[in-house]
Parts: sequence; C-alpha cells; structure tokens
Amino acid sequence: MTLTLADIFAARARIDGVAARTPLVPSPHATALHGDDVLLKLEIAQPIGAFKLRGAVNAVFALGDDVAGVTCCSTGNHGRGVAYAARARGIRAVICMSSRVPQVKIDGIKALGAEVRIGGKSQDEALAASRKLAEKEGFAEISPFDDPLVVAGQGTIGLEMLEDRPDLAAILVPLSGGGLAGGVALAAKAIKPDIKVIGISMDRGAAMKASVDAGHPVEVEEVASLADSLGGGIGLDNRVSFALCRDLLDDIVLVSEDEIYRAMQALYYEDRLVAEGASAVGIAALASGRLGDLGGPVATIISGRNVDMAVFTDIMCGKDVRLGDLTVTGRLYEGSTK
Ligand SMILES: *Cc1c(COP(=O)(O)O)cnc(C)c1O
Repeated sequence: MTLTLADIFAARARIDGVAARTPLVPSPHATALHGDDVLLKLEIAQPIGAFKLRGAVNAVFALGDDVAGVTCCSTGNHGRGVAYAARARGIRAVICMSSRVPQVKIDGIKALGAEVRIGGKSQDEALAASRKLAEKEGFAEISPFDDPLVVAGQGTIGLEMLEDRPDLAAILVPLSGGGLAGGVALAAKAIKPDIKVIGISMDRGAAMKASVDAGHPVEVEEVASLADSLGGGIGLDNRVSFALCRDLLDDIVLVSEDEIYRAMQALYYEDRLVAEGASAVGIAALASGRLGDLGGPVATIISGRNVDMAVFTDIMCGKDVRLGDLTVTGRLYEGSTK
C-alpha cells in the first residue's frame, strides 16, 4: 500500500463540508522564543475539538453502503471522530476504550450517539476488543492511525498549512501512532521536499520513537501523561504509519511532563487557547531549545482541546498534578521565558 499526494487530495474532497478547514494563526510569544514566525494550526476548531475528525470522516465516508456499522479503539479523540462521522453518515458506531481514558472523553462520545465499551487497561487491549467486535458483527474497524484512509485524512492538514504559508521551513507534529505525522509529512514533503517535519512525543512511553530507534515496531509500557492523547502503542503489526514516520520524519524529539505543563500554561496565558497536553508538545519542544536551527518560519499543530477541565484548571492555577507515580510540581505562569 503506497500512499501518494493524490490520496490526500481525494481525502480533502471527501471530507469537505464535514471536517473544517482550520485557521493557521501567529503566536507572538512563541515567535519571540524562536526568533522567526511561529504559527499555530488550530485543529481545536474542528467540530469535535480535535483533528481526528479528518481521518475518521475520510475512512467512514469511503465505506460501501452495505456496512453494518463501524468500530474502533480510542484514547478519546478518534472515538469522537468516528462517532461524529458515523452519525453524519447515519450508521451505527461502537467505540472500545481502555479504563485509562478520562471521563470527559467518554461523555463526549456518548453525546454523539455512539455506544461505548470499556475494557482492559491499555490501548492494545481496547484494540483487541474492537477487532473481535468487527469480526463477530461485520463492523468495519477503523484504526486511529494505521489505516491509509485515516492517514490521508490527517494529511489534509499539511496541504492547508502550505497553502496558507508556503514559506514554512518546519512543521512540529504531536506524535503518537503516527497517523498525523505520517500524513502531514507525506503531504508537506510532496509539495515542498526540503521542509522539515519533526515529530514530538512525551518522554515517558513514546512508542514511535522507540520503534524507529529499534528499526521495527516495539511495545512500550503505557504510563500516565499530561499528553494522554499521545499514549499507547503503534501496533506490532503496523502496516502504514511506522514506515511513513521512519522514512519521512527528520527527527523525533521528546519533551518532559514539566515542559508540557509550562507549554499548556503558555498557550492559555499568551495565546488564550484551551489546549490538551498533546497539543502543547510543539511549543514545549521549541521552549526546550532542543530543536536546533529550523531555518525559518515554523508551524505546530494544536491538535485537540479535549482536556479534563479539573486538571486544566489545576495547571492554570499552578497546582501540582499527580500522574501515577510521578508528580509534576506546580508553578504559576510567569512569562514564556524560563
Ligand atoms: C491522536 C492524537 C494525536 C496523535 O496522533 P497520531 O496519529 O496517533 O500520532 C495528537 N494529538 C491529539 C489531540 C490526538 O488526539
């Protein structure tokens, strides 16, 4: 299965009118940090509050009329996307989730009219449940990241960014299973081969980074993170997203929970955005100084806003946040320079 730029243009035509074309806006405080323009691609403006709607709509709308329904496993945003897409097409959706998923995301999916099944402690267990259901009931199973149609849908973000700012030198992409980074890198590099596309993950449980380093998909232990949407494995039988990330990403940079905490504060106090931890990793990486010279204007994808509001308000008030065995020490926001 080789994906091309044509698949991404086909995705754009298919999702038009259901998923939004989102704005790319300047971030003055991040621009000051970087020394050249920094732009934020606001996927939080999607009707489900996250970019995953693009891939989900592309996959669900490509199905034949005889499909019984759709199912998937999800840390939340993909489930919302599939639920929204299924409702838009008038078919049944059953979303399988692990018990780690925050309640706010479960509620969001139920509100979209989908059924939710909770089982297992990891994404991998939720995936197994979803596959079983697909087999038994003839549902189409839609992977959150490892499906060519999903990757092509996410890639439409890359098209829009380069249309709005053809002068971009680099794109920083929140990275988990790699559907987003793979699709964006494919689109961006097909249009502008010398653009840098850098994946950013949290430093605890970064499955794609470990897999690219090993040369094949590997399992990592899943631990709690402020970037909960970036948790989970890439699948040992990965078909699409691993090879794309291995071949197309210029680098994968890791950020700490502490850095994510500060970046979420910066996005709120400077840019006035409510962004989940996964959305803040690009800004965290810029602030860390770990990216080196990017050679010009840079954009990062503010990938979702579906954060647990109790955690979010704690962070904005400078309180400690407990993440399993780790406590992120709170600190009030005092400006974007450290
Ligand atoms: C899923 C998700 C990501 C990561 O996307 P992948 O395709 O799994 O790499 C980043 N941010 C948010 C908000 C997400 O929901």
